[in-house]
Amino acid sequence: MFENLSEKLERAFKTLKGQGHITEINVAETLKDVRKALLDADVSYKVAKSFTDTVKEKALGQQVLTAVSPGQLMVKIVHDELAALMGAEQAEINLKGAPAVILIAGLQGSGKTTFSAKLANYLKTKKNRKVLLVAGDVYRPAAIEQLKVLGEQIGVKVFTIDEDKNPVNIARKAIAHAKEFDINTVIIDTAGRLAIDEQMMNEIAAVKQAVNPHETLFVVDSMTGQDAVNTAKAFNDRLDYDGVVLTKLDGDTRGGAALTIRSVVDKPVKFVGLGEKMDAIDVFYPSRMADRILG
Ligand code: GDP
Repeated sequence: MFENLSEKLERAFKTLKGQGHITEINVAETLKDVRKALLDADVSYKVAKSFTDTVKEKALGQQVLTAVSPGQLMVKIVHDELAALMGAEQAEINLKGAPAVILIAGLQGSGKTTFSAKLANYLKTKKNRKVLLVAGDVYRPAAIEQLKVLGEQIGVKVFTIDEDKNPVNIARKAIAHAKEFDINTVIIDTAGRLAIDEQMMNEIAAVKQAVNPHETLFVVDSMTGQDAVNTAKAFNDRLDYDGVVLTKLDGDTRGGAALTIRSVVDKPVKFVGLGEKMDAIDVFYPSRMADRILG
């Protein structure tokens, strides 16, 4: 994860780390390299510039120039700013509701269905919840089948209505079913398309309006860089979701989506996907992510 970015940042700090005394020019040079590393990681120019401006201000404010180990102090400032950029605090999923209803949205291929099942498994095994998965991707029989297979694998019931192609009806009936059988958590997987289109947005918005979920999560493939950020914005403009899920962080992803989404949509990343297996899910901790990036 983020190997390239980590390497470049390490190189950026190298000169500073070896020195007991540094000048404002050294700081400026290091920050130029940091900015370049961020841009190479697919962070937008605006975010990268504002990031290094803030670091510079803090560095000079915290007397980096006269510090005993200026390099270390700079790394700490960058670490804290990276964490702040990603949201600083860990954001919890809202499970208050009887049942708690979680709506999952995103483009086709983003990892929505896989994440829905992973989340069900996580809530079942780690939070002791009784979960119902709802197959709301009515256009793709394969997606319904995929959810059924995953549900079986993790021992979670999957709610489907073969003869009903209306996702609002399906969602409503699933919630009624949950109430009847004392199931306290309902996860609704929705239909995605390869690109954003009006019909998909209308449909998810209709489901959201009908069931008024306690948590709406937007799932996005972190490998798609700036596209991920643009998609996140388009979905947020329409759905005003509560949190983001970054999938495929186990791949060779450059980091731009993880670093930028928060500042663009002002919604926290809540979970990450780290593989295809059902336990390859993690809660997102900005500070730990900053640790990983800085190696
Ligand atoms: P959907 O169309 O959004 O429902 O996407 P799927 O859940 O079907 O996922 C698309 C592909 O991405 C599948 O091959 C998944 O196994 C894979 N996938 C999903 N999440 C992850 C992840 O976190 N890491 C990796 N490496 N692959 C993932």
